[in-house]
Amino acid sequence: MPAGCRRFLSAVLSAALFVGTAGILGGCRKGFGKDAEGKVKVVATIYPMYDFVKRIGGDLVVCSMMVPAGTEPHSWEPSTRDMMMLEEADLFVYNGAGIEAWAGDLLETTQNKKLVAVEASKDVDLLRTSEVHFDGEGYEEEHEEGSSEEGHHHHGEYDPHVWLSPKNAEKEMTAIADALISIDGEHADTYRKNLEEAKKACEELDSAFRESLKPYAGGYIVVAHEAYGYLCRDYGLIQIGIEGVSADQEPDAARMRSIIDMVDKYGIKCIFFEELVDPKVANTIASETGCRSVALSPLDGMSQKDIDAGRDYFSVMKDNLDAIVSSFS
Ligand SMILES: [Zn+2]
Repeated sequence: MPAGCRRFLSAVLSAALFVGTAGILGGCRKGFGKDAEGKVKVVATIYPMYDFVKRIGGDLVVCSMMVPAGTEPHSWEPSTRDMMMLEEADLFVYNGAGIEAWAGDLLETTQNKKLVAVEASKDVDLLRTSEVHFDGEGYEEEHEEGSSEEGHHHHGEYDPHVWLSPKNAEKEMTAIADALISIDGEHADTYRKNLEEAKKACEELDSAFRESLKPYAGGYIVVAHEAYGYLCRDYGLIQIGIEGVSADQEPDAARMRSIIDMVDKYGIKCIFFEELVDPKVANTIASETGCRSVALSPLDGMSQKDIDAGRDYFSVMKDNLDAIVSSFS
């Protein structure tokens, strides 16, 4: 969409919503299209949510991924066009735990009274950002910042990358299945069957991680950003993040020095980079320490090329497992 169109839309959005004249937005607007007739219309925010919705919903749903393929989601914000998709949707699926800091505003703005919204991570035990940051001595002490409102996850307070634990992915898919059943009870059996298959796949994935990483318990991985807190917790590893949980700041000189010292101290052989985070710093650390640099995907986003090639949550997680195992030898 041209920038001018977006600016125009921003200006008229609230008015358009109130008078219900979405039609005036004409060519600027995308919709679910004809294929959506008779199906549950879902807007999912980030790639893992999109993958989970398709897995549980199958042919009964049509799903639009809000954060475009190949986009790093931490700093992404919806355009007016993205917001308009919600007006036509039956279900809005977001991960929560703070990765879509804009989700609350979006839900307050929508005029779609029948819209069901599900925060897929709602039943996950969240880790605080301080609990996934390793500074060389241990994980940072937890600082109590007073009690936050129950059920309200503020941006930056928790590690949102819950899906990188297969056990958590199972909980997120269960929340999505419950939401689909509440909207489309007629097909409850199909959603339940798909959920059972997905749970089985999550359990197999969890077993594969558990078995393969058992010999490396207590091992360190150097990663592009602190996305692997839940994965490390589940399988006894420690992540050293080049950037923080939100991948929004390159390390300062002191942190760089500290990472390079840890690489030497712990005999680390491999630095993991990510497709959606500038690999410059990872490459610098790798070349200074003589490490290999290898790709690891936090599944924050997935490129259109990979989606078209049939890659998905499970295939990427299996590749991640192979990459982590090989980093220890
Ligand atoms: Zn991330």
